[in-house]
Amino acid sequence: MSAPLDRSATWPYDAAGEPGRFSYARAEQPNAVAVETSLGALEGGRALLFPAGMAAVTDVVLTMLPPGGTIALAEGSYYGHKQLFDHIQPWGVEVIEYDQTGAPPEHADLILVEAPSNPMLTMPDFEAAAAHPAPVVCDATLASPLRLRPLEHGCDVSLHSATKVLAGHDDLIAGVATVKDDALFERLHLTRRLTGLIASADTAWLLERGLKTLEVRFDRMEASARYLADCLENDPAVTTVRYPGIGFLISFDVADGAAARRVETGVGSIENATSLGGTRTKIESRHRWEGDRCPEGLLRLSVGLESPEVLWADLEQALAGV
Ligand code: PLP
Repeated sequence: MSAPLDRSATWPYDAAGEPGRFSYARAEQPNAVAVETSLGALEGGRALLFPAGMAAVTDVVLTMLPPGGTIALAEGSYYGHKQLFDHIQPWGVEVIEYDQTGAPPEHADLILVEAPSNPMLTMPDFEAAAAHPAPVVCDATLASPLRLRPLEHGCDVSLHSATKVLAGHDDLIAGVATVKDDALFERLHLTRRLTGLIASADTAWLLERGLKTLEVRFDRMEASARYLADCLENDPAVTTVRYPGIGFLISFDVADGAAARRVETGVGSIENATSLGGTRTKIESRHRWEGDRCPEGLLRLSVGLESPEVLWADLEQALAGV
């Protein structure tokens, strides 16, 4: 019922002195292979596990971006991607942010869209991205493969922070990249082996366990998010509500930074913490991390598994204090 956990770093060669399927865990590891099989089936491709969502995007960029290349990055998407690309700018990497609801800039060498984007919650124009000659990578962390399979929309790579709803319990950090093309899979796999961007056996095992409840967790969280988005629309302290109609993530604005701080510190059962996709509902002001990339009054709400009525009662009393 549950795959054995194999923490080996190395396995003996066979009687003829030849390595078997598993010889050294930086190359391949049984628990990672097991969860990659499940993730590949969910995504409709071949999956590679990584020790973080950021490790997955690092492998993709090292493998797919030509030297001195330009990345077209969706505006209002996960700020860590922008930070990473800025950080490696001395290697000649250029990043341009663009409105992903339209066409990517012509001179892009790699396109990174996000569906929906975190925290601005826009959806990419997949047709426009796929029509561009550059490879298209889609971070679909917020949609999960239950609501969106980017490889079916002309994308070359589907990326996830598996830390979030795939694992679902805020107890591990992991990432996944899935592709259809065998040659690309081999190149990404080689980069992973050579750089050592390898998730532990324990992480792979826990992720596999999380996947068993993905559908029931996702359905419940999404239904509650729809309910809360409606409630927020009707609250006088809320000026804007962003909810793309799928998933568990909402972002909404209150008047300013001071009001956002009062809401996030005024909640009771909701956690004032970062991250998303876990069992517990979390709220935070994103301006503290992202600065001018998002409004000062923006609050990001990741809806968990608690009763939606209890969650609304908590939010309503926090908003009343604004
Ligand atoms: N992509 C999205 C949409 C995220 O929200 C995050 C983290 O918050 C990441 C990627 C990075 O993932 P990780 O923290 O697992 O490295």
